[in-house]
Amino acid sequence: MQAGSMRSFKFRIYPSKKQELALSNQLELTKKLYNLLLKEANRKYKKEKKSLTRFDMNKYITIFKAEHAEYQAVHSQALQNVSDRVSKAYSNFFKRIRRKKAGRYVKAGFPRFKRFMKSITYPQSGFELIEDSRRLGLSKLGGIPIRIHRKVTGKIKTLTIKRELSGKWFAIFSCYSSASTNATKLPFCNKSVGIDVGIQKFAAFSNGEIVSNPKFYAEAENKMKRIQRRLSRKEKRSMNRNKARLTLAKLHEKISGQRDDFLHKLSRKIVYEYSFIAAEKLNVSDMMRTNKFNHKNRAHYNSFSKHISDASWNKFIQMLSYKAESAGRKLICVDPRGTSQECNNCHQIVKKELSERVHHCPFCNVTIDRDINAAINILRKAERLELISNDEPNKTTAGPAGSQACAISFKGNATSFHSAETAGRDRADTLSHKDKASTVCEAGTICDAA
Ligand SMILES: [Zn+2]
Repeated sequence: MQAGSMRSFKFRIYPSKKQELALSNQLELTKKLYNLLLKEANRKYKKEKKSLTRFDMNKYITIFKAEHAEYQAVHSQALQNVSDRVSKAYSNFFKRIRRKKAGRYVKAGFPRFKRFMKSITYPQSGFELIEDSRRLGLSKLGGIPIRIHRKVTGKIKTLTIKRELSGKWFAIFSCYSSASTNATKLPFCNKSVGIDVGIQKFAAFSNGEIVSNPKFYAEAENKMKRIQRRLSRKEKRSMNRNKARLTLAKLHEKISGQRDDFLHKLSRKIVYEYSFIAAEKLNVSDMMRTNKFNHKNRAHYNSFSKHISDASWNKFIQMLSYKAESAGRKLICVDPRGTSQECNNCHQIVKKELSERVHHCPFCNVTIDRDINAAINILRKAERLELISNDEPNKTTAGPAGSQACAISFKGNATSFHSAETAGRDRADTLSHKDKASTVCEAGTICDAA
């Protein structure tokens, strides 16, 4: 089984006024094309309940390009990438329909038209790094100064040029590295850890360690509220409103920078210290989400800090996952259902409200922090899954050493090891274990800059 992962590298670029204008123009043109293709796709769907194929769309693009000379300004592959985006929007739409049919709480709404395009993607060509990587050469635009602040590893697959709301431009290289090219394997250590992420604190470890939420979460929330209030007082479409919007966008960017920094440091530390890492599988279903953060936390639900903490958990697991992989560590993500209710000592179920922060077991008299209890259970669950997958005779492992395997256990008796080699493309071989059905597939797609 060939394991590998996608990783992205984001660098700031500094286009000249002229280049900036040209890039903005390209974004505008691709947006128009996107909306046109989507309109066509919708028309086809309404008639035949099918979406346009990528082939149809590319044919359409060729004809459209011949009729509209201004599209010569955009690299042809960047235009073709627009059809990929429309197809993706449609396949997500079909996914939502399927999930809705399966009884999940999902709105199946049509893919939306874009009011503005944030980025364009060059799938294979049309770009190169020149002058010792100090300039990024873009087709039809020339060299743009770029600041490469860390080494790009792996094989560059795509380049995305993105304009943030603050007006800063970035180049994002999406690279594939196979497990064998993943260097820097850390020395073996025989330590395991379970991690539970939460609202009151950022994370709790099975060894009793607690990582509290970084201060800037709360600080950011206050600042954000102030700016938003100011923004709402400004007249619509006025210069002042624009200025306030820009301040807000800059603050957003700053916070996500601080957050990424915090997450990078934390995930690096964990991967360095532990060889077997168990975390929770986030976003397994919308139902579960509501279970963990139910209505009692409505205040949290609407707050900005929820917004960042939410995004942080996913990003944190992603970072853990690719760092674990390139260091040859094992990360297993388990369904967290039941992990906070079960007693880690006697395994009885001890029901508790979200507000109860301490696990006190009436059966065995153990008293322990609620989240640490959950973290211990998460570790146990992952170890159990690991045992099952290693016991399996006609199966290699859940990927070669170092690959990341995410495990989700579904209702009933079925367990499934899951992750994808490239986004959305699952290659799984099914196997059975006693009365359990398990699926094992290989290492995951991770992106830390999208
Ligand atoms: Zn107990």
